[in-house]
Amino acid sequence: MKRTGGQVRTGHRGNVLSLLTSAGHHLLWPAQCLFCGALLADQDEQLCADCWTDVLDCTSGSYCPTCAREVSEYAVLDRRCPECAGQIQTVDGMVRVGVYDKRFHEMVLSFKKGATELRHILVPLADSALKGCAFYPKIDVFVPVPLHWTRRLARGYNQAAVLARGLTHPHARLCRALVRVRATRIQPHMASPAQRRKNVARAFSVKRPTQIAGRNICLVDDITTSGATLHECAKVLKQAGAVQVYALVLAKAGHGR
Ligand SMILES: [Zn+2]
Ligand SMILES: [Zn+2]
Repeated sequence: MKRTGGQVRTGHRGNVLSLLTSAGHHLLWPAQCLFCGALLADQDEQLCADCWTDVLDCTSGSYCPTCAREVSEYAVLDRRCPECAGQIQTVDGMVRVGVYDKRFHEMVLSFKKGATELRHILVPLADSALKGCAFYPKIDVFVPVPLHWTRRLARGYNQAAVLARGLTHPHARLCRALVRVRATRIQPHMASPAQRRKNVARAFSVKRPTQIAGRNICLVDDITTSGATLHECAKVLKQAGAVQVYALVLAKAGHGR
């Protein structure tokens, strides 16, 4: 994520317009934090120092490679933490960018609620987290967790699809074969895992199984709490013939966060 700076060294109007389009606010002066709007110091990259401190604080801890709960690396045995050991896991591995806390929480929430310019921060963070995970080379297809068409229409975009579109990979493709066939309620923060599972049951379907069968899938979503949505998507994808189903999320939320 390199800042372009305030100088444009070309006299070609087309190039300038293209730079303005690709670099967004960084060609404007004074440069502002992409999230909170504070003025950026010369050494700041896209976010101000306070925002970076919060983001890095949320993204630096260790977590379980199966369920993404925050856990010491010493508590993980055979890729399971004490919470998910012994449970049947439909999702074979998970990578998360950070915990749903502090300004990272607000950033992920804003990204869902219209601030799509935050993709300039969130996509590179997701890309970097993904490249460091064990299943990265195995991925054949990225599948964003779909919104029901009514919610997609009301919001104007699916934040999971915006995220998935920006990911880089040597061979994996984006695939939209998974659809949400039933509108689900927005879960209250303190809904139990059982309530969450019931809410998303039979909510998804694979409309083009040939794009899924025999492939290793990486689901992409913004936030996971209990993992109920990812579990339901993975179940449907495996019924359609997916070999392994992994997941990438921006944030892992837990009760109290
Ligand atoms: Zn800021
Ligand atoms: Zn776990």
